[in-house]
Amino acid sequence: MRLANKVILITGSGSGIGRSTALLFAREGATVIVNDLDEARGIETLKDIHADGGKGHFIHADVTHAESVEQMVDQIIEQYGYIDVLFNNAGISGVGALHEVEPDAWERVIQVNIRGVYLPSKYVLPHMMKRKSGNIINMSSCVAEIGLARRASYSATKGAVLALTKSMQVDYAAYNIRVNALLPGTILTPFVEKYLKTSYDNPETAIASIKKRQLSEELGLPEDVAQAALFLASDESKFMMGSPLYIDGGATFG
Ligand code: NAD
Repeated sequence: MRLANKVILITGSGSGIGRSTALLFAREGATVIVNDLDEARGIETLKDIHADGGKGHFIHADVTHAESVEQMVDQIIEQYGYIDVLFNNAGISGVGALHEVEPDAWERVIQVNIRGVYLPSKYVLPHMMKRKSGNIINMSSCVAEIGLARRASYSATKGAVLALTKSMQVDYAAYNIRVNALLPGTILTPFVEKYLKTSYDNPETAIASIKKRQLSEELGLPEDVAQAALFLASDESKFMMGSPLYIDGGATFG
């Protein structure tokens, strides 16, 4: 088992990539703390972990709300004593060219996708620093590096997460804490399905447009990103620090 005895917090793990990663990490021996704003979906993930013989529990918290995040971290520390890995996965989509985006919608994407990485990291880091051991995985996206049409607010946040990952790595390397970023391309999750429905008239045009952006003929699946997250969470990636890891079927390269 590649994550035996590790305590791992995954934000936004009630759906999509977070959910897939939670199930995989539990199968690899981790105790997984499932977090989500959507209580029903979070509990569903936890049920599936338990049905699979895995360990973990669910904590309902909004990653943009400082007090809830602090309480979530305190609760984990009280119960387990430490957090080995924090996976800052929770995120929301933002569609539109810059002039089309309303100020409130812009603000919400910034809040969830950047503040939602800042707050869990802020409250988990002191515990990792005290232990001189830790591992943080931040969810960026290939849009941090390539321009995609009508993704202004979303691209701005994912670029920020990549820059933040590098800055964090420099600040916490002395505490034996690694901080790396995942850069997925288009992955078929509820998040993307919602975006495709609002942006394209029919599903076939949507799928064709995704395939045009990448080199692979396959569509990216949550399990593909979960496997990359597993590599970053395990000691097998111990020499990776402040790195972007691409899971994009060649979208960035192509
Ligand atoms: P998803 O919508 O399926 O899952 C995201 C989860 O985050 C949901 O369960 C949602 O309830 C939760 N969440 C949202 N706001 C929250 C908050 N404030 N507090 C706690 N939980 C909250 O999405 P997904 O596609 O699995 O995306 C997961 C991450 O991967 C996001 O950060 C996204 O930007 C990133 N990403 C996705 C793709 C893709 O193509 N799907 C590509 C690149 C990056």
